[in-house]
Amino acid sequence: MAEYRSIAAKIATNTSRTCEAPECAMPRFGFSKYCRAHRRAHERYGHPAGKPVSILQWRPHLHAATAFTGNWLSAGHPGIESAVRWCADQQAAHGQLKRADSKRPWTTFFATLHRGARQGVLPEELVARTLAAFLALRVEPRLFAGGDAFNHALARLFLRTTPQPSDAWLKRRRGPDEHSQELPTINIAYRARDYTAARVIGAIGKLAYRAADEMFKGYEAERQAMNERIEHTRCPDPVAGSSAPFSSSATTTASKGDLH
Ligand SMILES: [Zn+2]
Repeated sequence: MAEYRSIAAKIATNTSRTCEAPECAMPRFGFSKYCRAHRRAHERYGHPAGKPVSILQWRPHLHAATAFTGNWLSAGHPGIESAVRWCADQQAAHGQLKRADSKRPWTTFFATLHRGARQGVLPEELVARTLAAFLALRVEPRLFAGGDAFNHALARLFLRTTPQPSDAWLKRRRGPDEHSQELPTINIAYRARDYTAARVIGAIGKLAYRAADEMFKGYEAERQAMNERIEHTRCPDPVAGSSAPFSSSATTTASKGDLH
């Protein structure tokens, strides 16, 4: 009983304090340093301000990464080849696992990958998903509330047990709330997502980071060409001051404000 009272006292002390998420005035929940809502977001997305990344948000990056992976696989890039082999090994390492056990996060990792493989997820798709996540981080960093949110989003994408949806499938699914649609990714526990991110980034993160850089250069070249076309052909009569520089300090302040 004494122990119970001390736990209750600890909870009472904790819940009398304020949630640690920025600008949140709610009381903490249980033993958490967050309120109930921020605790839930942290559990699901790895960050109190985390949000789901929908398949439609991933899609352009998946398209680019799938093409990139395919091209470099045909060209025999040694890193892409090893990454595909590594993913195939992970899918095959299911072994004697009977079922996923939440106390042993690697069992979720291997069992889920095995299930994906049975449903037609190829190892090259796993590589493309990882490259897509790193490309999204490069192009749209604000999809992720922080580094941990990126890890958790990558883990969810990597562990999807169905092959990349076709455009036709997405067209059928498209509705008013298309961007709020979460990936149909099952219940992967926090620790299993953490484990997945560490394992995948540990093995193919370096390659994915470099590949994302390369894909990003392609985007930049396209963007530059597009911008030049707009500036030269569509702006014959710009207002005064159109060429005045935008100071870097103003940019920094604006982006900081947006984050909160
Ligand atoms: Zn809160």
